[in-house]
Amino acid sequence: MDLLNTLVDKGLRREPPTREEALAVLATSDDDLLDVVAAAGRVRRHWFGRRVKLNYLVNLKSGLCPEDCSYCSQRLGSTADILKYTWLKPEQATRAAAAGLAGGAKRVCLVASGRGPTDRDVDRVSATIQAIKGENEDVEVCACLGLLSDGQAERLRAAGADAYNHNLNTSEATYGDITTTHTYADRVDTVRKAHAAGLSACSGLIAGMGETDADLVDVVLALRALDPDSVPVNFLIPMEGTPLSAEWNLTPQRCLRILAMVRFVCPDVEVRIAGGREVHLRTLQPLALHLANSIFLGDYLTSEGQAGRADLEMIADAGFEVEGSDEVTLPGHRVRDAADGSCGTAAGAGAASAGCEAHGDGSGETGCAAGCGAHAGGDACGAGVAGAVCGTASAGAGPGALCGTAASGAGTGAVGSEPGRSQPEGSGLEGSGLGGSGPRTDLVAVRRRGAGTDLAPNA
Ligand code: SF4
Repeated sequence: MDLLNTLVDKGLRREPPTREEALAVLATSDDDLLDVVAAAGRVRRHWFGRRVKLNYLVNLKSGLCPEDCSYCSQRLGSTADILKYTWLKPEQATRAAAAGLAGGAKRVCLVASGRGPTDRDVDRVSATIQAIKGENEDVEVCACLGLLSDGQAERLRAAGADAYNHNLNTSEATYGDITTTHTYADRVDTVRKAHAAGLSACSGLIAGMGETDADLVDVVLALRALDPDSVPVNFLIPMEGTPLSAEWNLTPQRCLRILAMVRFVCPDVEVRIAGGREVHLRTLQPLALHLANSIFLGDYLTSEGQAGRADLEMIADAGFEVEGSDEVTLPGHRVRDAADGSCGTAAGAGAASAGCEAHGDGSGETGCAAGCGAHAGGDACGAGVAGAVCGTASAGAGPGALCGTAASGAGTGAVGSEPGRSQPEGSGLEGSGLGGSGPRTDLVAVRRRGAGTDLAPNA
């Protein structure tokens, strides 16, 4: 396919696709899906080899947010039965982080619900960052605390934060349909503040909220203009009790096309599969590793992910390897750019504080890098991804539980099915809910373990 050859060549040169080319990726047919994955996979391997970076979410403060982000289970008016608690103490957060680090994570994402931190909140988070780094010298720490006021990014950087997450979530044109209590421009401003303070910027999107292909391409092009080091791609987890609970719009195939488009637009950037991985990619999760070079290990902010051990087995089975703490995530030119003070950035690289105004513009917050739940989207942020796999995963699931069937239960039979399309008679899937023909609430489990509970985390 000429389109794919062109996009591979551009990706290897770090040249962006045109808007029309990005739209064409989303419009490819299922017959061409493996060709699309193979092409974007060449770009992924060129810049990141077969490494998969693991990130671990710690929800420092859960629920009771005054903002109204429609996708978020922690929003104003949410009736989702999520865990609600105020700030974890530094020792509690350090304990939660230790579980993820023991499972192979090299970045810890500290997320808190709310519009943005007070200066006292920044003090609390600074103490938590120092406590975590005091016990784990090499760990990367990303904060995701919402909209930042002047000077707060600098204080977080001084406390040892490596990165800051604030997602744009969706296109500027439709941002007002998703959230009314803050604006797309507010989000862009916070991403720029993080950049200017020398923090590695992490900013991504949420797919599946009813947006058009044009919205998706527009937000990804806007992200490229902001030049983040990491782009979390959340797939909406339609949580009961939120305004978007009926938005089951994604198929595994569409998720792969979205990830491929993001890879072509942001070829040398850490593309992270965030919330909704288990719920929407289901049995096709391993194929997504050919596109993204980063995932969250274990649970999300307010929903459960598949068992951490299942994540590790999936990576090994697919022929990839977990990135070590002694390996640099980003390609050398981005690390050098950061050191030069240009806008490249490399997380954890001590990046320059240059303030890259050139980066564009921006965006919004959905959560923390995906991971970051609260503001981020999918769950990583907020919305919560779900734990789908293993449905009940939970509990006892923790380490060692390995849901053997992991993804399986999930989407069996869903491949090839579009939402709303029922299964053929005699397929054995009619009415089973396994054909992608309707809401898959069985795949969404509210988080009941880990941070904020007495139960061991899933990592
Ligand atoms: S995404 Fe963040 S700001 Fe928005 S409702 Fe959720 S916790 Fe609040």
